Formats: sequence, structure tokens, C-alpha cells
Amino acid sequence: MRGHSLKLHHRRFRLAIRKNVFTERVTRYWHRLPREAVKSPSLEVFKERLDVALSAMVSLSRGCSVTALFGCPNPRQLSQRRGAISYDSSDQTALYIRMLGDVRVRSRAGFETERRGSHPYIDFRIFHSNSEIEVSVSARNVRRLLSFQRYLRSSRFFRGITVPNSSNILDDDYNGQAKCMLEKVGNWNFDIFLFDRLTNGNSLVSLTFHLFNLHGLIEHFQLDTMKLRRFLVMVQEDYHSQNPYHNAVHAADVTQAMHCYLKEPKLSESLTPWDVLLSLIAAATHDLDHPGVNQPFLIKTNHYLATLYKNTSVLENHHWRSAVGLLRESGLFAHMSLENRQLMESQIGDLILATDISQQNEYLSMFRSHLDRGDLCLENANHRHFILQMALKCADICNPCRTWELSKQWSEKVTEEFFHQGDIEKKYHLGVSPLCDRQTETIANIQIGFMTYLVEPLFGEWARFSNTRLSQTMLGHLGLNKASWKGVQREQLGSGDDVDPTFEEMDSDILPQEPRLS
Ligand SMILES: [Zn+2]
Repeated sequence: MRGHSLKLHHRRFRLAIRKNVFTERVTRYWHRLPREAVKSPSLEVFKERLDVALSAMVSLSRGCSVTALFGCPNPRQLSQRRGAISYDSSDQTALYIRMLGDVRVRSRAGFETERRGSHPYIDFRIFHSNSEIEVSVSARNVRRLLSFQRYLRSSRFFRGITVPNSSNILDDDYNGQAKCMLEKVGNWNFDIFLFDRLTNGNSLVSLTFHLFNLHGLIEHFQLDTMKLRRFLVMVQEDYHSQNPYHNAVHAADVTQAMHCYLKEPKLSESLTPWDVLLSLIAAATHDLDHPGVNQPFLIKTNHYLATLYKNTSVLENHHWRSAVGLLRESGLFAHMSLENRQLMESQIGDLILATDISQQNEYLSMFRSHLDRGDLCLENANHRHFILQMALKCADICNPCRTWELSKQWSEKVTEEFFHQGDIEKKYHLGVSPLCDRQTETIANIQIGFMTYLVEPLFGEWARFSNTRLSQTMLGHLGLNKASWKGVQREQLGSGDDVDPTFEEMDSDILPQEPRLS
């Protein structure tokens, strides 16, 4: 790296430190360092700057001890421990930056694992602790409740969320590989996990922004791209990154699947820009602020959301209301008439509420009746809206229809979330929910049941509606993946028994709604 160029980098970095804008600036600085520089001795200089940044963070943290912030007495130690970057793998870059992100989150919230006040683990602290945490968390819950869960909006500056000139957003935030991937965003084998790594954990923002552009929505609705960007960052942040499954990557995956369905001939010929806009927003926000446990769990722990929504579609209602809160806060559609904004909010609600898996039978039988009668007319706005509900339902549970490599990862993640809930239920003697007991359940059992009773019926009907290559591909993967899990199951059982007893006696109403494959 040439001397003056290195100096420039360092000057930018010092500026970032002075402005207390860490995560994003540090990330950018890092990405702009040529690989040769990373390998050269001047890297030591860079690492020193990181130490300075970490020290500065300590001085900024009001009322938090260094130990509370970093889990070690000296930030320099942390830097050394966390900053042990290996250059053998390019992935390590993202890993390191993410670690910085972790520190930031911990410093703000003061909790070890969760930044959101609504999280049931924190509610458990309310039930079981008598410390001052009790008071502060309760107060937060009230504030959050009153403000559509947006109480934690105060220190965006500290969090380093800047709003770049959005017309240059691709140049700023995408490396070459991520850009390359976006060119194939309509492919069914799109690897969202890889994309998330390439975008440094910003898959939902990057992908959705790109799709807004691709579908011409920014121009058509005269959207302020800075507001759009801000809205998407808020959406992404409101997903809990600690959830193994219900996090922003799942939302990005569902949004990508939705895009694939929107491109299907029957839809693309008839959908209006308004339909596309609602579909993408609903897909991106459909699990917003998901706590990583299901509705029965919220009900049995007397969670305030269960009370608020009268034990009905509790999570879906919360996702929707959270989305509405962010839409209003961002002012993204402030230039539209009140009537249109209200229509938008209610239609997004209809789409998100359709993802409640306990309502699957109702939607499916309606869909089936329409297909039997052949009376779906996509000129009709109501019919289009119904098809979009079905499309979002498909997108939400399409994991088993992806390639085995992708599908398997999703299966592991959702099971981890189920079992995590089961562990808490055991610990607090709440009665372990179906599919959540790691002692008796296996991934293979859960997946085979899920595919048989929920995914196959839905995608079977979808293929009747839209009999395209994509539909056949999805059904093909579904069959292959099911066969693979049956193979795993046979191995585990050590016999030819491939019947899943768990789902045999179960109808969809008593399946866990959340965490679910949604
Ligand atoms: Zn979902």
C-alpha cells in the first residue's frame, strides 16, 4: 500500500473515532484496506487504532464499568483477545467486525445476550429477580409498549448508523462478490447465508433495497432513498440476532423467496407496483421483533403481548404493529395521503397475519376452493391480495423447498430455537411444548412431520395455481430433502421405520406457531 494512501485511511479512522461512530466506519475502513496492507507490518498500526477506538468506547459508556462492557478489566486485553485475527481465511474479517458489533450491543443494553426489553428471558428476570434490573426493565417495557417498541431509538448516532448518499449505496456498502450475487437475486438457489456474510450481516437491508430498485418502486412512489435506507436499517435492527432462526437472515430469505414468486408469469403480468411494494415490505417485516419463542410460551408466562392481543395471533399482530411503528417513524410514505397510508398499513397487516401457521387450514381450503372452481381473477384486487397472502405463506415456510445444503442449515437453526425454548420450559417447570424437547425429538422427525403436514399441502396447491418450472423445482427439492431426512431417521433408529409418531397424532393447530418454520 502506498504511504499517502495508508495515511488517508488512518485519517479517516481517526475522524471516525473522534465522532464516536464506530461500527459502520470501522467496517468501511477495514473493507477499504487492500489485502496487501492487511498482510503487511502496517497492520500493527491499524490494530493500535482499534485499541484506541475501544478505549474511547469505554469513556463513552455512561455508568457502565469496563468489566461490564467487555467482560474483562482492560479493553486492550479485549482487543488482543477478540482482535486475534487470522488472515488465513477471508471470513475472519467479518467475524472480527461482528465481534465489535457484539461489544457495542452489550455496552448499550447492559444484558449479556439480549438487547430488547420484550425478550422473555428478560421478563424472567422480572419474575425471578429482586435487583434493580427489575425496575429498569419494567420501565422499558412500558415505554416500548407505548411507542411501538421503539424506545431504544435514542442513540442511533452512538450506534454508528449513518445515512450515506443512497445513490452511491452500492459502491459504499457492497463488495464485488455481494454485487455479483445480487445480479442473480431471482435464482431459487440464492445462498442467503453467503450473501449475509458478504454484506457483513446486512443482508436484509442490502437485499431489500436492491429489490426496491429492481422493481422500480423508488421511482414509482417517489421514495426518499435516505428514508428508505433508514427504514430498512431499523427493520433489520429490530430482528433479534441472538435468535438462531427468527432473525434478519430469515426475513431476508423470505423476501428473496417472495421476489421469486413475484416474478412468476401469472403474478408479474397482473401485479401493480402497489402490490409489489406491499409484498416486499410485508416479507421483510413479517417476523419483526420475534422473541424466539412461540405463542403458547407467551401465553403461559403471562407476557404482556399475549394480553394485549388477547391470545390470538399474538406474534403476528406484534410483527405487524412493529412494522407500522417503523413505517411511521421513518416517514418513508409521509408524502402519501393519509388514506393511502392507512390502506397500506392495513393491507400489510393482512399479509403478515396470514403467516400465522395455526390459520393454515383456513387459507389452504380457501385456496383449494378457488382452484377447484377456477375462479381466481387477478384483475380483481381482492383476488390478487389473496394470492399475495398465499405467496407470503409459501415464502415463509419454503426452507424445505430449497437445495439440501440451504435447507439443512435452516432445519438445524429452527430446531435449535425449539430446543432452546424447551430448555427454558424445563428450567422453569412450564411444561415442555411439542417439538421442543431435545431429549425426545430429532431434527429429522421434526422436518419430516413439518414437510408432510404443512409444506407439501401448501406447495402442492401453489403448483396447481402456478405450474411453472420454479414450482416443479421447489417440489423436487422438497421430495429429495424429505427422502434425505428419512435416511437420517432410519440411521438414527437403526431400522426401516420411517413413521414420525410426533406428527401422526397432531394437527396443525397444536403445532408450535412460533418458533415455527416461519
Ligand atoms: Zn417467518
